Amino acid sequence: MSRVIDLHTHSSVSDGTETPARLVASAIESGLAAVALTDHDSTAGWTEAADAARGSALTVIPGMEFSTMFGWKSVHLLAYLFDPSDAGIVAETARIRDSRLRRAENIVSRISADYDLSWSDVLEQTSRGATVGRPHIADALVARGLVANRSAAFESILHPRSGYFEPHYAPDPLTAVKLVVAAGGVPVLAHPGTRGASEVIPESKLKALVGAGLFGLEIEHRDNTASGKQRLRELATTFGLATTGSSDYHGAGKPNRLGENHTDPRVLERIIERGTGSAPLSA
Ligand code: AMP
Ligand code: FE
Ligand code: FE
Ligand code: ZN
Repeated sequence: MSRVIDLHTHSSVSDGTETPARLVASAIESGLAAVALTDHDSTAGWTEAADAARGSALTVIPGMEFSTMFGWKSVHLLAYLFDPSDAGIVAETARIRDSRLRRAENIVSRISADYDLSWSDVLEQTSRGATVGRPHIADALVARGLVANRSAAFESILHPRSGYFEPHYAPDPLTAVKLVVAAGGVPVLAHPGTRGASEVIPESKLKALVGAGLFGLEIEHRDNTASGKQRLRELATTFGLATTGSSDYHGAGKPNRLGENHTDPRVLERIIERGTGSAPLSA
């Protein structure tokens, strides 16, 4: 029997379409050995996911995908097994979620000048307390019949060059790595090769992240290009970093399927050894 480990998924606590309990049920139905719940900038789904996994053979790794900004580029940092009540993490993620909310309202206000879309349409697509992102605006555009699906929305109205876009606040990746490590967690750069080898984070910057305790690079991810993966393998060797693979499942919100990429069980063992801020949830 295959023991597939998928360390990157999203629930309705951020921009996935399934509740944490439904996502865990999907992971069990898919026969996964372990799944990490990594909602954007929020740990609010951890308890529900743990409850849903109780009594099953599935291990749930509590995690998060931390939004960061390196210059003008969005960089995502996966974080596992940190203390969700750590004051530094709580404050920084609250700041990001507040900024995301204001930013989404601003984007919708600009869109509403040209299209029949209101903020209440977006709220209808958003679970209470969820980390708000462009996917929720996309779902509202779909519900209004203005675009066919999320992908079409991202390619048109929600594209950074559409004129409606604005960024949200996010810390530097080094700040985020330090916060995660200080909270007992294990940081892994998410899909760092989506723009090809030449756009992978500079070696000098990566060196600083490694110095602060970066554990690994997510290489097997459908959005990393072939040249990006090649460059990341070189960097993993140079810096002695672990490598992971995962789906970045968003339920019906993206074509990504659970377990489509996976992580070596030995890498997960090392993550569990190193993560001291919280425990994996297993039967
Ligand atoms: P935001 O963080 O609000 O800027 O939105 C980015 C999020 O949108 C990412 O977490 C992705 O999961 C999601 N996303 C980006 N592109 C697409 C796409 N083409 N289709 C569906 N979801 C997307
Ligand atoms: Fe997402
Ligand atoms: Fe991401
Ligand atoms: Zn993700």
